[in-house]
Order: sequence, then structure tokens, then C-alpha cells
Amino acid sequence: MPIDRHVDVLVVGGGPAGSTAATQLAKQGYDVLLVDKQHHPRETVGESLLPSAWKYFDLLGVTDAVVAHGFIRKAGGIVAWGDQLSQIAFRDFEYTRPGLHVERDALDALLLRHAAASGARVEEGVRADAIMTSEGHNEATLIRQGETGGERVRARLLIDASGQASVMARQLGTRQVNPEYRFIALWGYFADSLYMASGGTVRPFADVRTHPPMTFVSRLGEWGWSWHIPLKEMTSVGLVIPIDDYKRDSGRFATLEAYFLSVCHQAAHLGQLLAGATLVNGGIRVMRDFSYVSDVVAGPGFMITGDAAGFVDPIFSIGVVMALYSGQLSAWTADRLLRQPDRAEAIRAMFAHQMRGRYRLAHTMALPGVESASSEAPGAYFDFFSDAEKQLMWSAASMTTRSANLSRISEGQEPPAKPRRLDLAGIDFNQLALAGN
Ligand SMILES: Cc1cc2nc3c(=O)[nH]c(=O)nc-3n(C[C@H](O)[C@H](O)[C@H](O)COP(=O)(O)OP(=O)(O)OC[C@H]3O[C@@H](n4cnc5c(N)ncnc54)[C@H](O)[C@@H]3O)c2cc1C
Repeated sequence: MPIDRHVDVLVVGGGPAGSTAATQLAKQGYDVLLVDKQHHPRETVGESLLPSAWKYFDLLGVTDAVVAHGFIRKAGGIVAWGDQLSQIAFRDFEYTRPGLHVERDALDALLLRHAAASGARVEEGVRADAIMTSEGHNEATLIRQGETGGERVRARLLIDASGQASVMARQLGTRQVNPEYRFIALWGYFADSLYMASGGTVRPFADVRTHPPMTFVSRLGEWGWSWHIPLKEMTSVGLVIPIDDYKRDSGRFATLEAYFLSVCHQAAHLGQLLAGATLVNGGIRVMRDFSYVSDVVAGPGFMITGDAAGFVDPIFSIGVVMALYSGQLSAWTADRLLRQPDRAEAIRAMFAHQMRGRYRLAHTMALPGVESASSEAPGAYFDFFSDAEKQLMWSAASMTTRSANLSRISEGQEPPAKPRRLDLAGIDFNQLALAGN
């Protein structure tokens, strides 16, 4: 097929990873084409952001726009795990800026528009297919929604930021799914939910701007968990359930919604937060939540970034920050590769090392059994992070019994900050009692 267009960099996917990479490369003067098969704003999951997101917003130059959007500021997280209720507050970890609860359609559209404003050509409703890569001759067919034929584009470099579609890793056969922890995620949106603020104080939704919420996580069975994320207008509530449990239990209910509501209402504390709330905004969303990683994240002419490179069950809300980080790293790497092609192998190896480290650390926090495959020093990947970040990760991981890995990889050097244990008996779910507070 003849080549219709030539560009420096083709970015596949306009989520946080793709938009970040495209913005930073366009700012450096590269001819960047970003395609997304969907039109933005598009709904997606992943609404709780760690404060480290601000670092990347600063680098992109979108901090003012994010602030102006008025997303809900969050103060930290509260986890109910068995009979233990614990809290981590960001201010205890030297963070000066809050976390956020964001409508992802709005945030992702903001980042994508910023990529366009920075000089990247952004084409929505355009799917990349039939990708071929080799040093300097990377090609893809771009197919517009509603059309059958496509145009063939050649790029000096291709960045796959296609999220869970993971187009390159699937094509290469390098995407390894963790067979032991296969979950399904179901979520929906509620009006008038109560929420938890610092110290486990329960508040009415109307207070969400004056008393910053905590992201509330509650254990479901041995491995499952739920999220409760107050947004600007409503509250996002999701369940992450082992797929076998889901198959066994959901059939007993007449509808998916009935199953979802039943699990929500039985979950510790979540049921009480939702007691007077109504499910709104179009019912239940469903998505597979399998952890996976690609053995290969870079090769001649391409890089794989964000969720396309790897995904870990998102109990600790690090996916978007990982996507921003890896988008930034991809842009840095792409620039070096284009300027120093003779050093390509070493540059790609650096990229792969960083990506593998982040992914492994995320996995180490969230799920057991990650270490055995590594020949590297167990604590090596901790070195990528500031002390505050390390302490936050340590404390977050110790709020559940899912993984004891962190105590091993930190080699006994337990960071001083610890989650604060909350008194279960002190939680007051009676909204009326708050009226005078
Ligand atoms: C149930 C669940 C809950 C989560 N909760 C959180 C959370 O609370 N906090 C958090 O930080 N993270 C969370 N995450 C993770 C977070 O959503 C992701 O890590 C993040 O969206 C990854 O960004 P990305 O840019 O890599 O991919 P995405 O945001 O998925 O973007 C990929 C884009 O690529 C496009 N695309 C795909 N294929 C093609 C193609 N062939 N051609 C063109 N375009 C294509 C898609 O349309 C999409 O817009 C959660 C994930 C799940 C599954």
C-alpha cells in the first residue's frame, strides 16, 4: 500500500499517556500525529488521582486549566479491611497539594486539547491498525469511523498509548496476563451519597467542596474491593471482584444492576454511605480488570507506554499517574532516539528499565508473588522515588493484607510514616447528627 503521509511521531491513543507524550514532543518542534479511535470527551474509569499528578500537570503546562476546572480535591484515602479501618492523609507525607477526584472524560479531553494547542495534530474517531515497525520505517493504517479503507502513514517513531487495547503487545504476542488475579470491575454513579472525610467523619454530599473527601475503599471477600469516589455532581462507586466469584454469584440476580446494588449495600460501611443514595446516569458499567504486562516495551522504531505496556489492579489509584509519567518518559526517550539513532539500543534499554521498575513496584504493592522473576536487587526500584512517595507507598500497601512484598523489598528500612488507624466505633453514619457541625 502506498504511503499517504509522513510524520516524525505517530501516537496511538489519546488518554493521559498519549496526550502527554504528544504534547511534549510537539513542544520540541516534532511533527506529531495523535489518533484516538474514540471522540473526546469519552467516558472512562479511573477517577481518583494521587497528588503526584500535579508534577506532570506542571511539566505539561496545564496546572491552571486543571485548577480552573474545579475538580474535587481529596485529602487522602480510608481503607476498611476486615476489622481494621485506616487512613492515610496526603498532608502527613509532605505533599503540599491535594489529590483529586476527576471526571475522566473532562480531564482526558483537557489533556488532549492541550496536545493540539501545543502543536500536535490530533485526529479523533480514527483507529490505527496494521502496524508495522522497524528502525525508521514505522507504518500504520488509519481508519476513520464509518469508513472501510484507510490511509497509510509512515512515522520515524511510533508510540503505542492505546490503553488496555494494548495494540502492539497483542500484535507482538508479548502481553502476559497474570492468571491468578483476574477480576471484573463493575461501577455506576450515585446521587446523594454520604461520604467519608478525614478521620472517618461521615458527611452529606453537599459538603464535598468544604470538607475534602477521602477515597474510600472497602474489602470484598478475600481479594475483592470496592471504591467510593465523590465527584463534582455525583459519587462513583465500583466493585472489583474475582471473576470466578462474579460468575458464581451474579447469576442469582435478575439483573446486573440488582447484583451490583446487593454487593454495594452489603459491603462494610459502603452500604451505609449509600443508604439514601440513588443510582443515576445510565446504569452499570462493566470492564475486565486483569493485571498484565508486556515483556517488550520498546523495539526498533516503537515504544509502548501507559496501560498499553502494563496494568495492575488499581486498588492504590496509581494508573493515571503512571500514564502521565510514562507519557513524559516516552517523549524524553523519543527525542533522544530521534537525535541519537546510533545510541538507540542503550536509550531503549533505559526506557524499558524505568517502565519495568514502575510496573513491578505497582504490582508489588497491590498483589503478592511478584518478586521471584527478578534478578535485580529487591529494593532497586524504590530508588526512583522521593522519600515522601516511598512513605506514601509503604503506608498505602500496609492498609490491606493483599501483599507483604513491600516489607521484603524495603529490606527492613521501614519508612517512619504509618497509616493512622481509625476507631470503627467512632464512625457516625447518621447524617442528621452532622447538621450542627
Ligand atoms: C476498574 C478500574 C479502576 C481504575 N481506577 C483508577 C483510579 O482510581 N485512579 C487511577 O489513577 N487509575 C485508575 N485506573 C487506571 C487508569 O484508568 C488507567 O491507568 C489510565 O486510564 C491509563 O491511561 P492511558 O493513557 O494509558 O490509557 P487510556 O486512558 O485507556 O487511553 C487509551 C486511548 O487509546 C485509544 N485507542 C485504543 N486503541 C486504539 C487504536 N487502535 N487506535 C487509536 N486509538 C486507540 C482509546 O480510545 C483510548 O482513548 C483504573 C482502571 C480500572 C480498569
